[in-house]
Amino acid sequence: MQRKPTLKAFKYRIYPTDAQVLFFAKTFGCCRFVWNKMLDKKLQAYKKKERIPQDTPAKYKEEFPFLKEVDCFALCNIQLQLEKAFKDHFRNRKQFNLPKFKKKRDKQSYTTNNVHNSIRVDFEKGLLYLPKLRNGVKIELHRRFDGKIKSVTVSRTNDGKYFASILIETENRRNKVVEPKSKSCGIDLGLSHFATVTNDFGSYKVEHPKYLRRGEERLKRLQKSFSKKQKGSKNSEKARLRLARQHAYISNARNDFLHKLSKAIIDENQVVVVEDIGVKGLLKTRLAKSVSDSGWAKFLSYLKYKAEWYGRTFIQVDRFFPSSKVCHRCGHKKEDLALNDRTWCCPGCGEIHDRDVNASINLYFVGLGRHEGMQALVDDRSPYGLPKKPSCDETGSSTFYG
Ligand SMILES: [Zn+2]
Repeated sequence: MQRKPTLKAFKYRIYPTDAQVLFFAKTFGCCRFVWNKMLDKKLQAYKKKERIPQDTPAKYKEEFPFLKEVDCFALCNIQLQLEKAFKDHFRNRKQFNLPKFKKKRDKQSYTTNNVHNSIRVDFEKGLLYLPKLRNGVKIELHRRFDGKIKSVTVSRTNDGKYFASILIETENRRNKVVEPKSKSCGIDLGLSHFATVTNDFGSYKVEHPKYLRRGEERLKRLQKSFSKKQKGSKNSEKARLRLARQHAYISNARNDFLHKLSKAIIDENQVVVVEDIGVKGLLKTRLAKSVSDSGWAKFLSYLKYKAEWYGRTFIQVDRFFPSSKVCHRCGHKKEDLALNDRTWCCPGCGEIHDRDVNASINLYFVGLGRHEGMQALVDDRSPYGLPKKPSCDETGSSTFYG
C-alpha cells in the first residue's frame, strides 16, 4: 500500500539580527500592503457585481518598486491565501466571512516556499537559511526533524518574539505506536472539571490545571491596568507588553496541557468517544467564562488528528445523543434533568449518579458498541453492564497524564 506523505509543522524560536528584523518588518509590511491592495480591488468588483479579478503581485511591482526588495514567494502566498478566503466565503457564507483588511497591529507573519533548496536548516550551526537571507538566521533547534522542507512561516508575536514554523513532508509519519490498554474511552467535557473520562479501568476526572486558573486571574488584572493607562503613553506601551506576554504564556500553557492530555488518552485507548460540544458551548455563554474557553474545540481537534496518526478511532456523537440524561445501568431516560443537577437518582433502578461520570460511561459504551461491530447506542438502547471498576477516583485526577 502506498503511503501518502504526511505534512508536519515544527515551530522554533528564531533570533534575527537588527538587519534581519528590518528585513522581516519590510516583508510583513509588503505582504500587508499587497493583501490590502488586492482585497480592495476584489471587494470593489464584488460590490459592483463584476467578475472578481485574480491579480498577481507582479502587477503591482512596476507601480510600487519597493515590493521587489522582499521575498517574492511571500507575496505570491498572499495572493493564494486571499483567493482561498474568497473561495471559502462563496462556498459557505455562514461560516466564512469576507476577508478583512490587515492592520499593523494584527499578528505579523509571512510564508515562503522551498524551491531548489532555497530553504535549508543547518543543525550543527543552528541556522535557518531563507530566501534573501543568505547568512541565515539564528534558530533554537530544540528538536530534530527528518524530511523535505515544504515551506516556512516567519511570525512576530505581539511581545516582540520571532518564530519560524517549518512545514515538513515526511514518509514515516507514524510515531511510535503503543498498544492500547483499553478498548474504549468516553469523555465528557465539563465546566467544573475539564473532563470526566471513563475507560476499561474505570472513571476519573481531570481538573483544570491550577497554573491556568492563576494565569487567567493575572490576565484579568493586566487587562484592567492596560485599559486604565492613557493611550499612547509610555506606561500604556509597557502595560500592553505585559498583557501580550501573559496572553502568550496562557496560550502556550494551555496548548501544552491539551497536547499532553490528548496524547495520553490516545495512547491508552483504541476508541475515543466525545460528545458534540455545541450544546455545552451554549451553556457556557450563560455561565461565567472559565479556563475551558477555547480549550474544548482545540482538545477535540488534537484528539482527532492524533487518533489518525496512531491508528485509533475517534467518534463524535450526535448532539441529540442524551449522554447525561440516560442511566448507564438501566437505560432509563430522565427527561427533566436540569442543567445544574450535578447528581441525580435514577427512578428506574435507584442508582445515584454523578452527572459527568454517568455521561462519560454512556459515551464509553458507544465506543464499545462500535468497536465490537454492534449498533451504536441510541435512545431505546438495552441495558449494558458496567465497566470493570466503575469507581470515580477524584483524587487521582490529573496525576494520570503526569
Ligand atoms: Zn437506572
